[in-house]
Amino acid sequence: MSQTSVRLAVIPARAPWRLVASSQFHTRSSPLLFRLSFPQVSNNPAFRRRRAAYGAVGTVLAVSGFAWTAQTGNVEVHEDPCDRRALTTVPMTKLISGWIAFAFCSSPTWVDASETLYNIVSQIPILSSIANAFIMRTFFNQFLGGETTSECIPKIEALRREEVGTLLGYNIEAELDGSDKRRELIHAQTEHVLSSIETQGRLARKFWPDSTTTSGDNRCWVRIKVTGLVPSPVALYHGSNAILSERSARGLDKDVPYPGLPHDGDWEAALSGVSTKDREELLALRAIMEKIATKARENNVRIVIDAEQTWYQPLIDSLTDELMQKYNTLDGPATCIGSFQAYLRRYPQLLDQQIRRAEEKGYKLLFKQVRGAYMVTEAARWKREGRQGLGPVWPTVEETHASYNYGIQRTISTIAEQIKNNEHLKIGAVFATHNSISIDLAIKLMEQNGMAKRIDDGKRLVLSNEIAGSIAFAQLYGNGTFLTLECSL
Ligand SMILES: Cc1cc2nc3c(=O)[nH]c(=O)nc-3n(C[C@H](O)[C@H](O)[C@H](O)COP(=O)(O)OP(=O)(O)OC[C@H]3O[C@@H](n4cnc5c(N)ncnc54)[C@H](O)[C@@H]3O)c2cc1C
Repeated sequence: MSQTSVRLAVIPARAPWRLVASSQFHTRSSPLLFRLSFPQVSNNPAFRRRRAAYGAVGTVLAVSGFAWTAQTGNVEVHEDPCDRRALTTVPMTKLISGWIAFAFCSSPTWVDASETLYNIVSQIPILSSIANAFIMRTFFNQFLGGETTSECIPKIEALRREEVGTLLGYNIEAELDGSDKRRELIHAQTEHVLSSIETQGRLARKFWPDSTTTSGDNRCWVRIKVTGLVPSPVALYHGSNAILSERSARGLDKDVPYPGLPHDGDWEAALSGVSTKDREELLALRAIMEKIATKARENNVRIVIDAEQTWYQPLIDSLTDELMQKYNTLDGPATCIGSFQAYLRRYPQLLDQQIRRAEEKGYKLLFKQVRGAYMVTEAARWKREGRQGLGPVWPTVEETHASYNYGIQRTISTIAEQIKNNEHLKIGAVFATHNSISIDLAIKLMEQNGMAKRIDDGKRLVLSNEIAGSIAFAQLYGNGTFLTLECSL
């Protein structure tokens, strides 16, 4: 995931507008979203060890991005008065801890050594407590919401005061080596997800008691990583392979790059094409996902299912597709948000197919559009497996940008068309990015399509309720804070 924050230091110039809540359109929301993540907590010593490991991984994510940027010598920083204004709202202590975190991140040597160093220091009494306190106050505080859902609440409330919604995520996914996790860990993970849904539900009732004007959305969401909910991610891999074999046998996806598109029958193909042990794991996963979706529906909280590595994705696509069909109604609640990675060469075809599919089947298509975080491991696996031809990811960043832009254009034109036809909106998107050029493009298109209009001499942008409930922008907590704060002013 080394690309997660590659462009944190690149701050292109932006147009001087703001997104604003508008009484004219009775809009109470800002179409903005933040993600807070928090690692697991438990008294079990094994859990504590894992917590350290996940914490370290979380730190490296931010770190490697900076390292990569520094190595390419590609850092462009444009001074923008908007950034300065937005950052004046950030408390000094937060600015200092953020500066320490990002200064550390800019050294590849420190980044490479960080996990080993942490492991050594955490064995030494007293020093380990000092190191822990330092990490909690700097890296952890910069990038994560808290260690428990209740610890996250002050941050969620502070963001909400800035008119920023939250996507609360529990930080755990498949082990990088694909090895098994213990069942108790899965159980604990599921309980944390359910408890974060309850927390977000309670906060939503307080912040946003009536969400009818924004298509039922209250911007209190929860994020889920499917690989964090199975003891053995290999079951997802085998299920995905079974889906691909079945599609190939049916002659589907001949012109679609790997890993293809979701189709009817995928879930059944996964269950019938794997071993009994894998089947049990997949059925248990389905039961967990249904439990989570039901809890989310009861609490009027949306769940966002993250996109992960392509070798798990056919199974994740299939589950997401099944849940969207079941839990996303057109004129009632819509609970499940899928995630689409624009860096995959399949993406333009996927988006077109998903829009068509939702239209034909009569459910609401909700998705988060990201560029994609697993570029390096995708390329490495493709090579290791000796596969021929282009890998799943676009060969150049320009093609990824074009694919992301296509997603923005296609989404906004589809929504514009549905508004023109006086239809219920059948699609909702979250553009998750720290790239201000992408955000500018989306807003320009919204304006051109009459979904947003400027006030205050062009400094503010007013959205209709319908749009505020259908298009959002998202950043990871602690990354691109200037973007989030600016957009929410
Ligand atoms: C709220 C939020 C949720 C997210 N959820 C997910 C998720 O569910 N799944 C997921 O995979 N990621 C997720 N991400 C991470 C995301 O995919 C990106 O890795 C990250 O946001 C950086 O992309 P950008 O658009 O912000 O920045 P940019 O700097 O504009 O783009 C960087 C991205 O461009 C792509 N890229 C860079 N170089 C090349 C190249 N040579 N060829 C092809 N493509 C290239 C990579 O995808 C890289 O991450 C999420 C990000 C956010 C903000």
